[in-house]
Amino acid sequence: MNYIGIDVGGTSIKGGFVSESGEILHRFGFPIEKGLPQEEYINRLADLINEEIVKNDYRKSDFAGVGIGCPGSIDSELGVCDYSNNLQWYGLPVVSIIEKRTGMPCRITNDANAAMAGEAKFGVGKNYRNLVLLTLGTGVGGGVYIDNHLYGGNKGKGAELGHTIIAMDGEPCSCGLKGCLEAYASVSALIRQTKKAMEKDKNSLMWDYVAYDIDRVDGKTAFECAKQNDKTALEVVDQYEDYLTIGLVNFSNIFRPEAIILGGGLSNQREYLTDALAEKLKAAQYGYRHTPKVELFVSELGNDAGILGAAALFID
Ligand SMILES: [Zn+2]
Repeated sequence: MNYIGIDVGGTSIKGGFVSESGEILHRFGFPIEKGLPQEEYINRLADLINEEIVKNDYRKSDFAGVGIGCPGSIDSELGVCDYSNNLQWYGLPVVSIIEKRTGMPCRITNDANAAMAGEAKFGVGKNYRNLVLLTLGTGVGGGVYIDNHLYGGNKGKGAELGHTIIAMDGEPCSCGLKGCLEAYASVSALIRQTKKAMEKDKNSLMWDYVAYDIDRVDGKTAFECAKQNDKTALEVVDQYEDYLTIGLVNFSNIFRPEAIILGGGLSNQREYLTDALAEKLKAAQYGYRHTPKVELFVSELGNDAGILGAAALFID
């Protein structure tokens, strides 16, 4: 049996026909043109799915269904995108539109939950039964996999791990609250921390790295200069990892997963990130001498995690 996986992003909708073993057999998609009525994006997606099936000599019965990963607050039970900040979608009944127009079953979840399902079924998490995934990007997304199943919670709204609070009255978060993990451990937060440290140390190598233009600071600036042993960059990275570790410790203590997977832009730092975090995590979690170790990995599926994870919504 094959699956159709759809990855809704801020700038494009990407889709793929996915085999049982997680191979993407065929890709399709279209850019998001702002300003269309919200239903139009889903109508267009449904029509494209119908066309691609015919054009590539498949039949609808070759597919178990259409899985969709979508940013924002998703009601997986009703199949509705209740609210997506960057797409400006409100109460969009995605599943009923797709089912009506394609005649195929459809399931939808939050994009981080989809990435979790993808890593668990096809990626670095495939040999584990209990997993946590954090995506470190503009925000911090979270997904939880318990006893071989994606955890959804009430209406599938579960696992907003980025908005667990790590500091009372702390830094303001994009969600309107204060002190969320996202406000400390997202790439946006790292950029803010990097700029602040650079303002204090005009001799840091980081100035050289961004050609003395502070607007060019990105998620790599502190990491790349820390690798060159710049003292201020090392401090930024160390502090950033301390913040992230608070989240990792909390999720380890709540779920006791076999592994935590880090995705998103920052996961490109690979072992440079996970080795330091593993040390910090080991020392900080409850009863570490007497409880099983929590492995730390970076995402294996990269840009395909969204398509594969959405497809995996149809694999039990
Ligand atoms: Zn928040």
